[in-house]
Amino acid sequence: MKVLVVNCGSSSVKYTLFEMTSEKKVAWGLIECIGLPQAFYKRQTINSAEKKEAVKVTSHTEAVELIIKGLLDKETGSIKNINEITVIGHRIVHGRDKFSESVLVTKTVKKGLKECFSIAPLHTPAHYAGILAVEKMLPGVPSVLVFDTAFHQTMPDYAYMYALPYEFYEKDHIRRYGFHGTSHNYVSQRAAVMLGKSLDKLNLITAHLGNGSSITAIEKGKVIDTSMGFTPLQGVVMGTRCGDIDPAIIAYLVGEYPEYKDGSVLNDLMNKKSGLAGISGLSADMRAIIQASSEGNKRATLAFKMLTYSIKKYISAYYGILNNIDGLIFTAGMGENSAIVRETSCKNLNALGIEIDVQKNNERSSEERFVSTENSKVKIMVIPTNEELMIAREAKKVLGG
Ligand code: ADP
Repeated sequence: MKVLVVNCGSSSVKYTLFEMTSEKKVAWGLIECIGLPQAFYKRQTINSAEKKEAVKVTSHTEAVELIIKGLLDKETGSIKNINEITVIGHRIVHGRDKFSESVLVTKTVKKGLKECFSIAPLHTPAHYAGILAVEKMLPGVPSVLVFDTAFHQTMPDYAYMYALPYEFYEKDHIRRYGFHGTSHNYVSQRAAVMLGKSLDKLNLITAHLGNGSSITAIEKGKVIDTSMGFTPLQGVVMGTRCGDIDPAIIAYLVGEYPEYKDGSVLNDLMNKKSGLAGISGLSADMRAIIQASSEGNKRATLAFKMLTYSIKKYISAYYGILNNIDGLIFTAGMGENSAIVRETSCKNLNALGIEIDVQKNNERSSEERFVSTENSKVKIMVIPTNEELMIAREAKKVLGG
């Protein structure tokens, strides 16, 4: 059984074809810079090395068409016939409060997705175009939508509401949604396997630390709070995003600087020019920040400290609301690869039973592993995330059900 995972971003389409008996990748790649002269197509299969070529694609529809033609190519393709693909799993960034789980695409589901356009205007129309293109190229093959927000839909109202006048929730659906749900879901399931317990008996804190980062509190396998909010801007300090700030700063900037009266310019400032990049003035990349800090760059050191301090604050707060946790999980680019980020984020948390083993933590590995001391009450784990596989599993599950 083969499952195709399609991830349409604002200007890219990524894909992975899985053989589900072994859960191995058969073919994968992406088309980036859609609509721009520098658009390119990168692809690889289990039997062939990576190929990269410039392409002319003006829409997500054209990109999906090119990818599917590539998969069907007589010489270099991975399938002979479209019927070899049992189901397609689409990654969807925002399902608002309309979708609390993965769903099979129907007319009603498509209508519901259209109603989510305004809440993620860069992404949802791209997802929608991708769904239509796949339907055209692979007629009769069912599609399943897997939402980044769905795993967080178990949050109680007092955790997801903002204390704004209630009508903004009713009319504009302003509330916390949370993101990276597929990743938090995947690593929490893996953590249960590593701990040898059923997920519904575990309290966990999962820290997805990449360019965008979010931390989630999981009680008996269900999300009860998460650091990202109405959009992926809230929460910890990120590569280019400011994370939590006093909201009155926004009104101040609008009052002081005419350019920020335009909401999109203000959004750009907070989403693309802040975080590690804004503080250091150097880079959004944690590796560059660590390097510059080791060479004595004070602003890089400050950026590093601010980021790890914000992670530590969320871990401590979520420990408090969970009362007791079994595991703390680090995942994504920084969480999986940066020993110093993990060590600093866990420093002086022994009162909470969180004790990192410095030596184990420093060992380089791309495998799932424990990095806590023998005596640590809380097991600290590093678990490489695999959002594509999780989407493929969800698609298979929904189809089976
Ligand atoms: P995205 O959110 O774009 O998917 P990733 O999950 O790939 O991002 O994470 C990217 C972040 O991980 C960058 O800040 C990068 O510097 C950081 N990172 C990756 N490898 C390392 C490393 N060895 N040490 C420190 N940071 C790392």
